[in-house]
Amino acid sequence: MAVSFTLSPAQQQLVHVARAFADEQLRPLADAVRAEPDPLRRALLARPAFEKAVASGFLKGLIPVPFGGAAGGGVDAAILIEEWAAQSPDFVISMAGPLIALAPVYEVGTPDQIRRFVAPFLADSGAPVAAMAFSEPDGSANFDAPPPAEGTRTVAVPDGDHWVVNGRKQWASHLPGWDGDGPDLMTIVCRTPGGVSLVVAEREHLAGHIEVEQYLDLPGLAGCMTARVRLHDVRVPRANLLGAEGQGPSLTRNAFFASGASIGTFATAAMRQAFDVAHRFATTQRRGGTEPIIAHQAVSDVLADAKGRIEAVRLLSWRALDAVLSQDPAGPELALHAKVFGSETAVDVINDLVKIVGVTAYDKQFPLVRHLNEALAYPVIEGSNAGVRRRQLQTMLAAPGYDPLAAAGMG
Ligand SMILES: Cc1cc2nc3c(=O)[nH]c(=O)nc-3n(C[C@H](O)[C@H](O)[C@H](O)COP(=O)(O)OP(=O)(O)OC[C@H]3O[C@@H](n4cnc5c(N)ncnc54)[C@H](O)[C@@H]3O)c2cc1C
Repeated sequence: MAVSFTLSPAQQQLVHVARAFADEQLRPLADAVRAEPDPLRRALLARPAFEKAVASGFLKGLIPVPFGGAAGGGVDAAILIEEWAAQSPDFVISMAGPLIALAPVYEVGTPDQIRRFVAPFLADSGAPVAAMAFSEPDGSANFDAPPPAEGTRTVAVPDGDHWVVNGRKQWASHLPGWDGDGPDLMTIVCRTPGGVSLVVAEREHLAGHIEVEQYLDLPGLAGCMTARVRLHDVRVPRANLLGAEGQGPSLTRNAFFASGASIGTFATAAMRQAFDVAHRFATTQRRGGTEPIIAHQAVSDVLADAKGRIEAVRLLSWRALDAVLSQDPAGPELALHAKVFGSETAVDVINDLVKIVGVTAYDKQFPLVRHLNEALAYPVIEGSNAGVRRRQLQTMLAAPGYDPLAAAGMG
């Protein structure tokens, strides 16, 4: 099949529609989020835009077609994420909960589980939220480590027809839901007698059994609803176990591939915004000299290098998202490169752009360091590069028969 990098008319239209939504809804939301000091009130500001996005069909657009949704291919997803994340990456992370929380349902869910768990996210109104409750307050990089390591500390104990879940979770968007009674759906990584497993709690199981210990105050992505919660005696039907007991580690890793690939696109969005600001500054500001500072080659070189790296990360992320969503065997490796290379490139690029703008950048009102704060999140979220993602790459590279050309489809 021939490969073209030219956007189709439908994709160009998607750019237009996504950008219009971002300009109308997400730019003002981001301004309001910056002005609100309280983390919970900040997160709640997103609700009206969230409802508009649901009513416009964007949430359904996250659900694959075979499960009743309207998701397009990976390039379409990347276009939407980049346009929205350019204005409010926090908002996209909040909405994207089902992308991760439902991934194991698509992979191993029974027809009954698929029907029950996907249904809330096919809605045309409201603001349904989902959380992938993997991370714990005392660390998750070694979540699959066997005893005597702590590994996953949240436990689900069988009790008749139910699992009884107890433990603490942190970081996942919307762990508390909009009102502190939990999200519509929470996929919980926990320890059962058969090993690390996934069970799904619905809102009716969580209400009254979830205590918010603290809403977290993030330096970037500040509109995310991020908290530490305690689950106490959450009673979940035995039928809500996904796959088999002990299947949790592979289901969890697989669930984070699409979101990992998307981090490259989040990184692209942050770099693109920062580049615009720095380029405008360099082409208009003389700083007391005779010419705009882009006439100094040291400044121009930074801009040129930044632009090249932005284009490289964008294309890698398109390819990675496309491969993951189309079940291409190259998907996992490409997703890891998009996550690791994309996130670390964004930190370097935006840091370099701050240096050429100079001291003007070091003012909260100047719209540049805010993007560095966003970028600093990307190496550590969705499985930190050091603790999770590079270790996954190590496993791939060390596997017997690893083919370096396979990711390019040229093996
Ligand atoms: C906005 C936001 C959204 C998030 N969304 C979610 C979500 O939806 N769901 C969710 O579950 N989590 C979420 N997280 C948390 C995120 O996925 C983290 O990446 C995850 O908790 C793992 O963190 P960590 O790798 O730093 O692990 P930790 O266990 O905290 O490890 C800390 C550090 O120790 C080192 N380390 C530990 N063990 C090893 C090892 N074996 N080898 C090498 N180094 C090691 C690494 O340097 C690692 O970074 C979110 C976080 C944020 C800020």
